[in-house]
Amino acid sequence: MIMSGIPDRDNISGGVWGAQARNRVDVSFEFFPPTSDALAEKHWQALTRLAPLNPKFVSVTYGAGGSTRERTHSLVSRIRQETALEPAAHLTCVGATRDELEEVAEQYWSSGIRHLVALRGDPPEGYDSFKPHPGGFAGSVELIEFLRKKHDFEISVGCYPEIHPDAKSSLADIDYLKRKMDAGATRAITQFFFDPEVYLRFVDRARAHGITIPIVPGILPVTSYSKIRQFSKQCGTQVPAWLTHLFEDLDEDPATRNLVAAMVASEQCLQLQRAGVTDFHFYTLNRADLVYSVCHTLGLRPEQSSVTI
Ligand code: FAD
Repeated sequence: MIMSGIPDRDNISGGVWGAQARNRVDVSFEFFPPTSDALAEKHWQALTRLAPLNPKFVSVTYGAGGSTRERTHSLVSRIRQETALEPAAHLTCVGATRDELEEVAEQYWSSGIRHLVALRGDPPEGYDSFKPHPGGFAGSVELIEFLRKKHDFEISVGCYPEIHPDAKSSLADIDYLKRKMDAGATRAITQFFFDPEVYLRFVDRARAHGITIPIVPGILPVTSYSKIRQFSKQCGTQVPAWLTHLFEDLDEDPATRNLVAAMVASEQCLQLQRAGVTDFHFYTLNRADLVYSVCHTLGLRPEQSSVTI
């Protein structure tokens, strides 16, 4: 793929630029709730920078074991009140009773939050595996069923192109995703991955299994290679040898690392776009620049008039 040179605006019907002209691209951005005032300021700057790209929604994570419950709620409410963006609140089953989850869901609904990302969640620090709270839900399917009965939320869920570490098999994993859809999930967002083929094969398997909801690729630009290795180990994502090779010797060279990271994530997204993908979910890690540049490469441009901050 040739990425150099400015495309001729009168002749954008061919190649990768043509794909951009033909396909409308929709994006969503995931943030985590900042832990201090200084980080909150940085986070808000990142959100403000990305907002004019007119994301379908922006989601806010829920710390392991519900540890960020209040911070998640206040950030989601702030986004609702101070921006025209559509916020989505992550919610997990870990360490919470049904009553507590009901209270959180009611609070969201009454603050005008209509989109939840419903998850089982990871075990809190110090625990190897997920253990349901005695008064809580056994897993994401029960949580989704519960939320669906409560209110007409839009419900996104997680899914795993490289198989969740707790799954007995790839088929069992897909089958569980089908159960999430049947329980009321309206969209699946994938765990991050690096090889576009892995995602495309997963979507084929899911469709063959009767899963009809959108399966949106979750894209994680490589801000720090060592962190990515650690995250990948925890969640079962393969780090290809070519990726390791690309980030070799760049630990102390953030400028080059960022350029390489933008190239890698752009290439991944463009390959997906050429395969027909039009929706992308970005794990921003509360940083805007890399994600902004990848969105630009995908053909997105700011739409100042449609978003007010
Ligand atoms: P589930 O899909 O419910 O379960 C995980 C897997 O276990 C299933 O895929 C299935 O293979 C197997 N399984 C579970 N129960 C059964 C069963 N009864 N029968 C058969 N198989 C079963 N974590 C956080 O703590 N906070 C967040 O904000 C957060 N956001 C995330 C956002 C996205 C888009 C993704 C993909 C993940 C996120 N996570 C978050 C991580 C997530 O909590 C972990 O991946 C967790 O281990 C699984 O959550 P889940 O809802 O996908 O689990």
